[in-house]
Amino acid sequence: MSKIRILSEQLTNKIAAGEVVQRPASLVKELVENSLDAGATAITINIRNGGKTLCEVSDNGEGMSRDDLLLAFERYATSKISTVEDLLNIRTLGFRGEALASIAAVAVVEATSTLPGADSGHTLRIEGGSFRYIQPAAPQPGTTISARNLFYNIPARRKFLKSAEVEYRHVFEVVQKFALSRPLVQFQLIHNEQEVMRLEPQPLPERIAELFSSEYATNLLAVTHGSADLQIRGYIGNLNLVRARRGEQFLFVNQRFVTDRLLNHAIVSAYGSLLSRNEYPFYCLELELDPLAVDVNVHPTKMEVKFREQEQIYQFCQEAVKNSLQGILAVIPDLGIFRPEYYYTPPPPPASGVPVEQLTLTPPAAIITPEKRIRRIASPQKTDDVAPSESTESTSKWQERARRFSGQNLPADSIERHPGAQVFQLHNKYILSQIKSGLVVIDQHVAHERILYEEALESLQHTSWRAQQLLFPVILELTPTDFSVLLEILPFLEKLGFRMKEFGKQTVAIEAVPAGMRWGNEKTIIKEILDYYQEYGTKDTSRQEKVAAAYACKAAIKSGDSLTTEEMQTLVDHLFATQNPYHCPHGRPIIVNLSLKELDKRFERI
Ligand code: ADP
Ligand code: MG
Repeated sequence: MSKIRILSEQLTNKIAAGEVVQRPASLVKELVENSLDAGATAITINIRNGGKTLCEVSDNGEGMSRDDLLLAFERYATSKISTVEDLLNIRTLGFRGEALASIAAVAVVEATSTLPGADSGHTLRIEGGSFRYIQPAAPQPGTTISARNLFYNIPARRKFLKSAEVEYRHVFEVVQKFALSRPLVQFQLIHNEQEVMRLEPQPLPERIAELFSSEYATNLLAVTHGSADLQIRGYIGNLNLVRARRGEQFLFVNQRFVTDRLLNHAIVSAYGSLLSRNEYPFYCLELELDPLAVDVNVHPTKMEVKFREQEQIYQFCQEAVKNSLQGILAVIPDLGIFRPEYYYTPPPPPASGVPVEQLTLTPPAAIITPEKRIRRIASPQKTDDVAPSESTESTSKWQERARRFSGQNLPADSIERHPGAQVFQLHNKYILSQIKSGLVVIDQHVAHERILYEEALESLQHTSWRAQQLLFPVILELTPTDFSVLLEILPFLEKLGFRMKEFGKQTVAIEAVPAGMRWGNEKTIIKEILDYYQEYGTKDTSRQEKVAAAYACKAAIKSGDSLTTEEMQTLVDHLFATQNPYHCPHGRPIIVNLSLKELDKRFERI
């Protein structure tokens, strides 16, 4: 008896579905691609429960006949190619003829379609890959396809779906990409019966502003480069749209969204020294070229493409972006000046003549004198008013820690430090201090980050920090993705002392910040926390840890901040009172130890 058998079509469809359909967002992607290929100018996406319960896409495209409706759900059934040559010359988004068959294998599917001018349409129903019925339906222009209860017949995969909120975010991002690639198509997105997006046909910059936030409109630079057979068009963001997180980079090749590391590099590298590490510019660009020059059949969900002339395209894109950045490059050679909001600057003292707007951001009560900064940042007041630990107390504590950390690169007895031992600041970046066995060099930013991290974690798990009311609420407009992340972590931010109120669409009013946090850059801190939260950590990192790490990194003093002796003393004392004074939450070292022995060796004393 032979052990090899040909699998049934039902089973092969399920296997194939694994490649095409991973989550509700992939359903939506395939269905909207079909609508666009059918020439639709208006598309409605209706989802429920993040798409887990329902994904339905309706369009006003060319529709399908009864026979086509029946064929469309067969595997490798497509109207888009018919010969091998066609495969090299693809002008549609779909061509593999797999999507509908895959979707039908893993969900309960209903499709209704009407040909233009026909006096009746048809509805087809398939459950878990098995045909149920086809029957006449009232005519309505175009096609509506719904997929319910994704993976209802594969419980193991259904378990891998995330919360409705997370799945919704993925769907939103898919729709956002289509909306960016087709500004002349009307899009509507409905989640749990509520309209969450409605976009009328409009010029691309307007669409970008609607999808992200209104500030985008005034911070875009146009890109147009090339000629008919190879061109790139669209918009890139100036430095006001630079983020600390990836996710706002959109490249379309012949109207298809792709992720291409090489071209991303070409575009980002054109910014050159305008960006520093971990900064990501906004771009929304479309590359248009002869379909023969690009292979789109290299990836199951068609997210990647392969160019025949890789190098040429790389240089072409880089040049295009450089050209449109020229204005910025010429006028502002040094970006430190251009983006003051990215660097902490102490709030100006209130004086008559200060513009009202500035006063609202830095009300007199908020001004923290430089002497007090560290103490106040380092020891947020607890709600139960526990006094911050005194430095003498913490000194003995850190010696105890040192003993516990004797396995580390610092031997326990080597960091014996006397309270009040002298400290020096080096290049506004490092703190030097004498210890019994030599000297330590402390990175001021990561040291403060470690302190804030542990304190934030403590406040998230136990006592909340006290909020400090702002005199005037600060209004912050967010992108839809950031807004939904904010809602997700809001309870944690509240424990830290932030108070926010919803203030219109995707907009919040920040009413209070953690007591002790420096004022004046609430907006930047919140935005950076959202970026950081999404980038930081692995699957095992808890939300609390992520929020604590994000807050700590963003609220900590920066390299470049000058500190008074008292501030440095407080910082060092608090550092040694932490659980792990040697490594910041990402594992970067905080302290470097230079022993007397090492010095003696170098000076050839021994
Ligand atoms: P592909 O898009 O790769 O051809 P699909 O399985 O996604 O494969 O779709 C199969 C066929 O069904 C398409 O080629 C198209 O002819 C038809 N079709 C699917 N969705 C629509 C739609 N919304 N409007 C009109 N025709 C559609
Ligand atoms: Mg398709």
